[in-house]
Amino acid sequence: MQSLTIGFIGLGNMGAPMAANLAKAGHKVRGFDVAGTTAAGVEVAPDIAGAAKGADVVITMLPNGSILRQVAAQAIEHMAKGSLFIDCSTVDVESARNTSEAAEKAGVLAVDAPVSGGIGGASAGTLTFMAGGSEAAFAKAAPLFDIMGQKAVHCGDAGAGQAAKICNNMILGVTMIATCEAFALADKLGLDRQKMFDVVSTSSGYSWSMNAYCPAPGVGPNAPSDNDYKPGFAAELMLKDLGLSQQAAEMADADTPMGELARALYAQFVENEDGKGMDFSAMLPRFEKRGREG
Ligand code: NAD
Repeated sequence: MQSLTIGFIGLGNMGAPMAANLAKAGHKVRGFDVAGTTAAGVEVAPDIAGAAKGADVVITMLPNGSILRQVAAQAIEHMAKGSLFIDCSTVDVESARNTSEAAEKAGVLAVDAPVSGGIGGASAGTLTFMAGGSEAAFAKAAPLFDIMGQKAVHCGDAGAGQAAKICNNMILGVTMIATCEAFALADKLGLDRQKMFDVVSTSSGYSWSMNAYCPAPGVGPNAPSDNDYKPGFAAELMLKDLGLSQQAAEMADADTPMGELARALYAQFVENEDGKGMDFSAMLPRFEKRGREG
């Protein structure tokens, strides 16, 4: 593929390794982060305009939707017609659609492309991208997704990538809680954890939370539970995504009682208990300590 000039804005835990992988693949990457962070092989731009001007593609990897809206407005102002804006952050569906509209008005193609795979996937170039936008925009972004990831699914129009991400993570949050509370119940019933895993992982209660990311230490494949619940995927990031799914459910008038309960439990865990900085599977030791009255 021809070498592109890429502006990369937001060089945090995820953005820095993603930008480094693009540079390693031979693209000219100009990065900018308000915190002054950099990435291997990436030239530092003085500001957003410096990263965006003359870029074939601008990629953002930012904390939330309101920051995305501000950054996108500034970047798009400096982007040429026909260039491409890709947002890889996890944000609310409204902000994704708003950003896409702003880009379209300026003749810039846009894709919302949140990821799954975490920091490990970002470093290894094995992320999964869930993309929303036009066919033309997705086709132009696809070779870059191939560098930063192992799979990209075109989910539909603007916002569809974010919709897929928050629906997936709502299922993940709910099934992780269900798996953890079932382990805590099994403990109290005197059932051996390994036997519980052997049965459930091959029965109708199986899920990614049980089979691939078992919250019980020493049981199933290696997971954050085997490393003192160091993330992994931090409980506060799960809380963020569950908040976004409830925000979307309100906007779309969807009834999501399990998603709301999962959000409330992660909020309690992160804000009032010792969940902050722990992996999201640390719900198991939380349940372990409790009885029916808390
Ligand atoms: P992070 O906080 O490490 O990185 C965000 C970066 O954006 C920071 O370095 C910050 O300084 C920078 N930033 C903030 N405002 C800016 C501005 N106005 N201009 C330029 N830079 C600015 O977060 P992260 O873990 O890299 O996550 C980034 C996004 O990816 C989030 O939306 C998160 O939900 C999503 N995500 C994270 C993971 C994960 O495991 N960390 C997994 C999937 C998705």
